[in-house]
Amino acid sequence: MAAKIISGAEIASAIREEIKADVIQLKDEYNIVPGLVTIIVGKNPASVSYVTAKQKTAKDLGFYSVQEDVDEGVSEGELLNLINTYNRDPHIHGILVQLPLPPHINETNILYAIDPDKDVDGFHPVNLGRLVIGEARFYPCTPYGIQQMLVRTGVAVEGAEVVVVGRSNIVGKPVAMMLVQKAKGANATVTMCHTATKDLAAHTRRADILIVAAGRPKAITADMVKEGAVVIDVGVNRIGMTSEGKAKLCGDVDFDGVKEKASAITPVPGGVGPMTITMLMLNTVRAAQWSLKTA
Ligand code: NAP
Repeated sequence: MAAKIISGAEIASAIREEIKADVIQLKDEYNIVPGLVTIIVGKNPASVSYVTAKQKTAKDLGFYSVQEDVDEGVSEGELLNLINTYNRDPHIHGILVQLPLPPHINETNILYAIDPDKDVDGFHPVNLGRLVIGEARFYPCTPYGIQQMLVRTGVAVEGAEVVVVGRSNIVGKPVAMMLVQKAKGANATVTMCHTATKDLAAHTRRADILIVAAGRPKAITADMVKEGAVVIDVGVNRIGMTSEGKAKLCGDVDFDGVKEKASAITPVPGGVGPMTITMLMLNTVRAAQWSLKTA
């Protein structure tokens, strides 16, 4: 039987309605408007398109939204000063620095300079440390989106065998860490795979929930998936151009083959992607709500 298609676009749209309600409540009860600044250095086309989409979503949701277009030649010190300005700005609750940064700037120094209470990307080591000990304030957006897709689709995560392919700091490690927590929507048995994994298929075939974030087009084929598994494809690979001149995308999973075996699967595009931006917005609203407690 063909798998149920998990539409990230539909789930994201439902979460955005919840965010709009929170925005109205913050405004009506506390006169607070969630504020998000996105800082982009240079004009990398992919980064420009991500930042444009984030800004548009923030505005659509009624946020106070600022975009800082910084020249490619900015020094690390100047960028740190800019971040500090927003760390102190009470109208800004979330600071996002679009990666990658030019090679002369140390990304770690920049990410560490963001106030952890405004770190809506969830990449600051304080927030990653809180996540590990089960006291997260912000979850990194893509892992948070993955967990919400599972929970809102009614997938039983508790006790499930979860296999994560990929161990990056932004997807693989945090999603594994989230799903292993003794918490609602988690409490799974989690295995992480990477390029030194000896027999990848032996692991993926055991998965009730298979999460793939390898950045390798169609690396996961039907023979590597257990009958009835839930498959979350995080990969976004550009494999050419469409006839309309748009980038042609595919995931890390061979969708056509795997959908005949899985019980549920996310498409690319339209799966994890729309969730990531939405979770950034949810983190920003949460940051605005928390600012009330620390004011
Ligand atoms: P990354 O930093 O390149 O990490 C890839 C991970 O996959 C590494 O841990 C690597 O192992 C592992 N890996 C690569 N090939 C493998 C293979 N054949 N077998 C087993 N493991 C393998 O990538 P990322 O930033 O996590 O992103 C992964 C993919 O997700 C990319 O396509 C990216 O564009 C996409 N993505 C999508 C979203 C979204 O919102 N939709 C967000 C973030 C990322 P080693 O550690 O051993 O090298």
